[in-house]
Amino acid sequence: MRVPLGAVGWDALPLVEAADDRPAIERRSVLRGGFYETQARTLIERVPAGAGLAERWAVSPYRGCAHACRGCGARGGHRRLGLDAGRDFDTRVVVKANAPARLRAELARWGGEPLALGLGGDCYQDAEATYALMPALIGALAEAGVAFTVYTKSSLVLRDAALLAGSGGQVAVSVAFVDERVRRAVEPGAPSVQRRLELVAALVEQGVVCRVLMAPVLPLLTDSAEQLAATVRRVAGAGASVVEPIVLRLPPGTREWYLSWLAEAHPALVDRYAELYDRAGLPASGYEARITAQIGELARVYGMRAGPVEHPAAAEARFPQLTLL
Ligand code: SF4
Repeated sequence: MRVPLGAVGWDALPLVEAADDRPAIERRSVLRGGFYETQARTLIERVPAGAGLAERWAVSPYRGCAHACRGCGARGGHRRLGLDAGRDFDTRVVVKANAPARLRAELARWGGEPLALGLGGDCYQDAEATYALMPALIGALAEAGVAFTVYTKSSLVLRDAALLAGSGGQVAVSVAFVDERVRRAVEPGAPSVQRRLELVAALVEQGVVCRVLMAPVLPLLTDSAEQLAATVRRVAGAGASVVEPIVLRLPPGTREWYLSWLAEAHPALVDRYAELYDRAGLPASGYEARITAQIGELARVYGMRAGPVEHPAAAEARFPQLTLL
C-alpha cells in the first residue's frame, strides 16, 4: 500500500545519512597499486612492553607484512586501523609515504635513544621495492647520529648495503629455525631459510654490522635440542658473530591467528600452549630462560656471542609518542 505523502509529517521522517562504515584506514588513505598510502602524523612509537627487544622505540614505514608470519607480534596493530589481525595484516599493507620527512622532523627533537626499524612490517618487503623509503630513513638516522637496527628477512636490504655500512646502523636478519617445512607453514610469504642465511653472509661480506635474530623460537615445534643446535650451527656457518634468541610472544591479535593455525595443524599442542602462556601472551619465564641458556651455550660452542644488541650509550628519549599513524 502506498502511504500518501500528506499522511507523514517531515519531522517524523528519520534522518537518513549515508553511514561511512569503511575501515578507519580506508577513510584516511589512498589505495594505490594495492597499498594503502597514507600520511603519518607521527612516526616514532613505543615498542610494546614484553616484545623482548633491546630497543624501546621503533619506526615502521610499513604496517602489515606480506611475509605473513603466523607468530608476528605486530598483528594487533591492524585492528586499530579497522582491519583484522589475520589475513588483512598479510594482504593490506599500509605505507607511510611521508615517513622520511616525518622522521627528520622528529629526529630534530629526539634525545638519541636507539631505534628499531621494521617492527610493524618488514621494511624491505615488496612495498619497499615500489616506495623506496628506506634510503632516506637511513640517511636521516645517520645524519642525526642515532643508532638503529633494521629488522628484516628480505634480501632487498642488500640494495642499501653501502648506505648501511657507513650509517652506524645494524641489520638483524630473523632465522628462528632451519626446517623448511616449518618455515613454509608459519612464514609462508617470507624468503626461504637458505636465502636468509645467504643474506647474512652477503651483509657480512659487504661490511654491514649484522646479527641473527633467532626469533621466534616456537615452543614444542622448533625448540628441541637438535633443532636449536642445527639452527645455531648454520647461522654460525653463514658468518654471523651474534645471535639473539627470543621465544614466541602471543599478544592479542597474534594469539588468535597463531592458535587457530595451531589448532588445525597441531591440535595436540593447544592445551600445552595454554599452560605455557600467560594472559599477556608471554611464555613462562622458566621455559624462556632454559631456551635462552641453551642457545647461549650453543653460540659459545660455535664462536658467537648470544644476547641482545649492544648499541652505543645514548641519551633518553625526550618525548613520548604513541599515535599509530
Ligand atoms: S617479516 Fe617480521 S614484520 Fe613481517 S610478518 Fe614476519 S615477523 Fe611480522
